[in-house]
Amino acid sequence: MSKPLFDRIALIGLGLIGTSIARAARANGVSREIAGTARSQKTRARVRELGIVDDILDTPAQAVKGADLVIVCVPVCASGAIAKEIGPHLDPGAIVTDAGSVKLSVMRDMEPHIPDGCFLVPGHPIAGTEQSGPDAGFAELFVNRWCILTPGAKASPEATAKLTSFWQALGSHVDVMDAEHHDLVLAITSHIPHLIAYNIVGTVADLESDTRSEVIKYSASGFRDFTRIAASDPAMWRDVFLANKDAVLEMLGRFSEDLSGLQRAIRRGDSETLVELFTRTRKIRRNVIEAGQETAEPDFGRMRATPSDQD
Ligand code: NAP
Repeated sequence: MSKPLFDRIALIGLGLIGTSIARAARANGVSREIAGTARSQKTRARVRELGIVDDILDTPAQAVKGADLVIVCVPVCASGAIAKEIGPHLDPGAIVTDAGSVKLSVMRDMEPHIPDGCFLVPGHPIAGTEQSGPDAGFAELFVNRWCILTPGAKASPEATAKLTSFWQALGSHVDVMDAEHHDLVLAITSHIPHLIAYNIVGTVADLESDTRSEVIKYSASGFRDFTRIAASDPAMWRDVFLANKDAVLEMLGRFSEDLSGLQRAIRRGDSETLVELFTRTRKIRRNVIEAGQETAEPDFGRMRATPSDQD
C-alpha cells in the first residue's frame, strides 16, 4: 500500500465540514492519523462517540502538535483567533488551510500568525448542506464538487500542489484563484442567494398569522426551497456577510437594479422582457445540470406525495 499523503491531520472545528473531511480522509486513506478538536466539550464528546477521528484534544494548540496538515473549519470570523492560538505550536513545514466561505478576510486574519517555515493555503470546498454539527457530516460530501484554493504570500507551490492532491483524493475538482476574485464570485453564487432566502422567509415570518399558515400550507409552490437555504447555520452566515461585506454589497447593488427592471416590466405589462429573461435563466439551469452540479430530475428528484404539487 502506498504511503498516505499526510502523516497527521488536525481538524479545528468538528461540525458539518470538519467531520465530513474527517470521514472522507479516513475513507480515502489520505492520512496515517486524524486528530481533532472543537470549542465545546459537548461536540468533542459526540465526535469521540462517533469514533470518526483517532485523537480528540481539548484545545487547538494541543491538536496541531505533530500535524503536517491543519484544517480550520470554524465560522470565518473565528479563524484569526484560532491562527493566533495555534501559530506558536505548529510543526515546522506544516500546511495550514481552512474551509471558510470567505477568503480575503481569512487570509488577512490568519496570515500574520503563521510562522516562517509553515505554509498557509486558504481553501473553500463548494459543498455543504443546511445542516450543522458533527452528526450532519458524511464522507461523500465533496465528491464531484469544486474546492477553491487561494494561496497568498505565506503559501508555496509545493504546499498548494499537496493540498490540491488532498482535495482530489476526497473526490473534489480543484481550482486556484486569488482571494478577492473568490469572494466576488461566491457573493453572487452563494451569499446573495442565501440573503434572498433569509429575506423572503423573514418576510413570511412577519406576515399576519392567517396568511402565514397558508404560505406554509402551500409552500411547495416555491417557498419550500427557500426555507431549506434559510435554515442554514445562523452563526456561520452572520460571519459570511460580515466578512464579505464589500463583495456582497457590490453584487447586491446589481441585483437590486435588475429587480427594479423586473418591477418596471411587470408594471408596464412588458411580456417580451419577462419571457426573454425567463428563457435565459432556464438555459443557465441546463448548464448547471450539464456541469454535473445538479440532478436533471424534476423537483430535485424529490418523491412526489401528490401527482403534482408544483404551480
Ligand atoms: P458547523 O457545523 O456549525 O461547525 C462549526 C464548528 O466550529 C463547530 O465545531 C463549533 O464548535 C466551532 N465553532 C463555532 N464557533 C466557534 C468559535 N467562535 N471559535 C471556535 N470554534 C467555533 O459549521 P460548518 O458548516 O462545519 O462550517 C465550518 C466552516 O466551513 C465555516 O467557515 C463555513 O463558512 C465553511 N463552509 C460551510 C459550508 C456549509 O454548507 N455548511 C460549506 C462550505 C464551507 P462547537 O460545536 O463546539 O460549538
